[in-house]
Amino acid sequence: MKELLLVRYGEIFLKGLNRPYFIRALVRKIRYAMRNQGAQVWVHDGRIFVEGFRDLEIAVERITRIFGVHSVCPAVEMEKDDYEAICAQAIAMMADMKGTFKVNARRSDKRYPMNSPAINADMGGRILEANPNLKVDIHDPEHVMNVEIRDKAYLYVKVIPAVGGMPVGTNGNATLLLSGGIDSPVAGWMIAKRGVQINAVHFHSFPYTSEQAREKVIDLARKLSYSCCGIKVYIVPFTEIQLQIRDNCPEEYTTLIMRRFMMRLAERIAKQTESGALITGESIGQVASQTMEALGTTDAVVEMPVFRPLIGFDKSEIIDIARKIDTYELSSLPYEDCCTIFTPKHPATRPKKEKVEQAEAVLDVESLIEEALKNVEMVRV
Ligand code: ATP
Ligand code: MG
Repeated sequence: MKELLLVRYGEIFLKGLNRPYFIRALVRKIRYAMRNQGAQVWVHDGRIFVEGFRDLEIAVERITRIFGVHSVCPAVEMEKDDYEAICAQAIAMMADMKGTFKVNARRSDKRYPMNSPAINADMGGRILEANPNLKVDIHDPEHVMNVEIRDKAYLYVKVIPAVGGMPVGTNGNATLLLSGGIDSPVAGWMIAKRGVQINAVHFHSFPYTSEQAREKVIDLARKLSYSCCGIKVYIVPFTEIQLQIRDNCPEEYTTLIMRRFMMRLAERIAKQTESGALITGESIGQVASQTMEALGTTDAVVEMPVFRPLIGFDKSEIIDIARKIDTYELSSLPYEDCCTIFTPKHPATRPKKEKVEQAEAVLDVESLIEEALKNVEMVRV
């Protein structure tokens, strides 16, 4: 008898020719997550198995946060020929349970002497006899004793839900504008969940923003990397651009012009990293630079699609997700972001694109961008 984990993946994505590609990608991610756990990961009959790990709890925790995993079932593998031993094991696994149950047998080995309904009835009867706290309910049971007869027999009861989504890397790359705030890590997480490998770009205005602010962003990226896999963080020096904007542009447009620079720089880095889109944590009306008109003026400077997965979310809903993905506490550390320095008292909330372009025209946009790009630092997490 051997204890192992059976990893289940979402089904809707598995139709047609993509299925082996999807499974291979998922197996790679699971192997990576289990790399120092001494575990083997293998696929058999479209099922992913993990065995030989040192610590069940760690294995479950790591695997349930991998995008593409639907659920994880701690299972027991046995020789299928010894039906008596299989029943004894099933009885033992159900010994502490109360309420309703059923046995759900599946037999991919059609030569097995008992068919699935026969196993259901016989094993169900034996479990019932052994545990007086259980009752059978085949329509809506609280517990299901799953029995799979393949090369071996597999038994499992517990189904631990996982994060869902698709394996990272199966849907291309995108570049996340990552501030130290609450919203952008959540936005990146949501897009990565759909199978997108993310890179991050962070704008840093040293010495107006501190070394701690920079470290905080790297820590946030590291948190994200547990689900989103390795992330490259590009730190872009932004001080000179902000000073030029502050000194030369009308105050009401300074935030918008700064945001346009961020988008342009992020798009340049995105192109170098073969990204197909930019991601931001904006949501309609959250601040002056996130009105519909303001978002229009920032989008106008880039060609790439801009994904804003939080666009219709309330702050409280975003915070709920940040808590769930464990970025909330880090995001709440009180370090200045470049968006919070030099903020105008009365920012334009319904800016006209032409007005913003006019206000920006005094700057040498291209050389400011080139200068910033020369000094980009890349950190891998
Ligand atoms: P967040 O909580 O993510 O900081 P926010 O509500 O504070 O968002 P803004 O500061 O207006 O909003 O920023 C809007 C978006 O612009 C952010 O979600 C993020 O994608 C991007 N952004 C803002 N500041 C930076 C920065 N310093 N580096 C990289 N991206 C940034
Ligand atoms: Mg911010």
